[in-house]
Amino acid sequence: MRRVLKLTFLALLVLVVAAIGLSTWQFATYAPRDRPVPADAAAAAWFIDDYAAARRDFLTRGDALAGRLAGVERFAIPVASPSGVAGLFVDGLYIPAQVTSKRLLVISSGVHGVEGPAGSAVMRLFMAEFTSADALAETGMLFLHALNPYGFAIGRRFTENNVDLNRNASTSDALYRTVNAGYPMVDAVINPQGPADAGSLANRLFHLRAVALIAQHGMPTLRQAVLQGQYQVPKGIYYGGQALEPELAALAPRVQPILDAYPLSMSIDLHTGYGARGTLHLIFDPPKDARVRERLEAVFAGQRIDWASGADFYTVTGDFVGWLGKLRRTGLHLPAVFEFGTMDSQTTMGSIKSLHVTMLENQGAQFGYASPADRDKIQRDYREMFNPSSAAWRTQVMQDSRAMLRVVTEHWPRVALP
Ligand SMILES: [Zn+2]
Repeated sequence: MRRVLKLTFLALLVLVVAAIGLSTWQFATYAPRDRPVPADAAAAAWFIDDYAAARRDFLTRGDALAGRLAGVERFAIPVASPSGVAGLFVDGLYIPAQVTSKRLLVISSGVHGVEGPAGSAVMRLFMAEFTSADALAETGMLFLHALNPYGFAIGRRFTENNVDLNRNASTSDALYRTVNAGYPMVDAVINPQGPADAGSLANRLFHLRAVALIAQHGMPTLRQAVLQGQYQVPKGIYYGGQALEPELAALAPRVQPILDAYPLSMSIDLHTGYGARGTLHLIFDPPKDARVRERLEAVFAGQRIDWASGADFYTVTGDFVGWLGKLRRTGLHLPAVFEFGTMDSQTTMGSIKSLHVTMLENQGAQFGYASPADRDKIQRDYREMFNPSSAAWRTQVMQDSRAMLRVVTEHWPRVALP
């Protein structure tokens, strides 16, 4: 009997060791594959990774639009950088409706700085291909380029104050007193202190700690705790700040009169990182106002909308598009988000890997890196997560965006005014 028990124990031990070994290998080599789309150099060429060059192209295209359309306004909000990064601006380009002011489209990019290259590319494509005099007869368009220019320039999601603008945007200071009750249970795991060392045992086995947390609390609870935003840990990830960030504070008085000039507005905020690689997800907060939901469904008729409510999703506090809507004094605002997936974060391994990449980059930004090699690897993984260099991925983003923008601009002129 004892011999049988001993053998069973040994067999179990071998199985456990094999499972740990296999999962550790999978975690270390995780790289979601591109969808099989032939890379198109012309599509991929829309991507400009360098912030200053992307800005120049945005401004040049703005000049061209101002030359052929009436009443175009431009503004540049300078963003101060305590560490001395020069030439940072949030740029705005407003094209008023050319005949009657009925509807306003707002396209925004770079709320998460490191996601800026894709957002800037899609925005410039929109400026080039969807701004005919006909399209602008009753629709005004407002383009907001690089809302977090510091993050775009240096490759961070967050601002120089470590603030996630998509957790910071609020018309009320009450947001910054919000307590994310779940954050303390993940804080120690996702915000380690000391120089970031990608090869340490704790990092190589990060997936095991994550799986233990999932087993203990369940994936929906954890996802919500990590991602909703937090206002207590200034050096932690998904920090929403203690006040409205200066970029947004300066933007509000600029955009408010533009929004108010139209009874109906819709904003499309451009993001990368969440969801299936190479897929354009429409992830919208479920609106409290039925009139908003009806109209979003009309704009995106025939497309799949993921209303961020089920167990697979999380709700955030202080999101940018919701804030834009609250700036309106009258009328109706439709908040929309395009999210281009990169990491298959809908899978368990994809979400653990995404969290680990985010965590290591923030640790490095806060406490430095164990070595230059660690810095290079960690920053490269981070950029690849939010701005994949793959030509196939970039092609997919541009092709799907063009198709989706056709859907939007076809339905938009018929969406009922409030
Ligand atoms: Zn984002």
